[in-house]
Amino acid sequence: MTKKDNTLPEWLEDVVAKEERARRQAVQAAERRAAAENRAEIMPVAERFVSVNGEGTHAGRLAAFIRFAGCNLRCRWCDTAWAQGADAVTEWRTAEELVAWVREARVECVTLTGGEPLLQSGASALVEALVRAGSAPGGDEGVTSYASLVERASAAAEEPPAPGPLFVEIETNGSQPIRPLAALRERLAEEGVPGRFGFTLDCKLPASGEDSAMNEDNYALLGADDVVKFVIADAGDLDAMLAVVEAHGLAGRCGVYLSPIRGEMDPAVVVEFMRAHAMAYATLQLQLHKVIWPGVERGV
Ligand code: SF4
Repeated sequence: MTKKDNTLPEWLEDVVAKEERARRQAVQAAERRAAAENRAEIMPVAERFVSVNGEGTHAGRLAAFIRFAGCNLRCRWCDTAWAQGADAVTEWRTAEELVAWVREARVECVTLTGGEPLLQSGASALVEALVRAGSAPGGDEGVTSYASLVERASAAAEEPPAPGPLFVEIETNGSQPIRPLAALRERLAEEGVPGRFGFTLDCKLPASGEDSAMNEDNYALLGADDVVKFVIADAGDLDAMLAVVEAHGLAGRCGVYLSPIRGEMDPAVVVEFMRAHAMAYATLQLQLHKVIWPGVERGV
């Protein structure tokens, strides 16, 4: 008796592959529909991970990153273009789920990034939930007896100290209004909530191709916890950056960070420009992630 050949003919393999593709697309469409119906509660996440913060006032510190899918701009030098489309969504998450994950990460910084995080209608609710949760004293919940206190004390002796109040950094591309979140910040401060949040607001310069998309009203709302970040590709960008700083009186009011594009703009030229224009208030920022993990786009 001859052995039966289990290999599918090529035409049948094509049919099976097509059906599988159609099934996957149907599932993704159903997920998108469900999310669209309940947009305020479910948000499209492209990735989340714990790494060092590469930018802003908390650069070099551990942070929990939540990268949302989708962006309304198309910067020429974008290094997260993969996160812009609907295909980038790896999971749909509620604010509660994201807050629980951040608390488990035991960090003091969380970075909301993208894509553009402020495209999410649930962004304000998420920021408020993170700040409030990150302001609670770390880990005293559920202690009800002497035995559990002793157990907890001995566990604590082996564990690193509980993280302090959370700082939430919102990396926004500068095109979306930050006014609703600025109002939330005032309200939380009035309540004396110890956790804080700040904006790292991109100001797109001419070489990005998106400089006309900036929301000019945002600059007046920035303060000491905020940073305006200028990604600089060429000499024209340097001049345009200085014009924005002067027009909006940014010096001394918020952080002014200059980030030369690796391989396009020599950092030494930026330093020379800072010296020539007495920009003592500004900070040169090298793209830390590209120094540590050259060529790696995700999960860092
Ligand atoms: S705003 Fe950010 S994510 Fe959007 S295209 Fe520009 S660099 Fe990429």
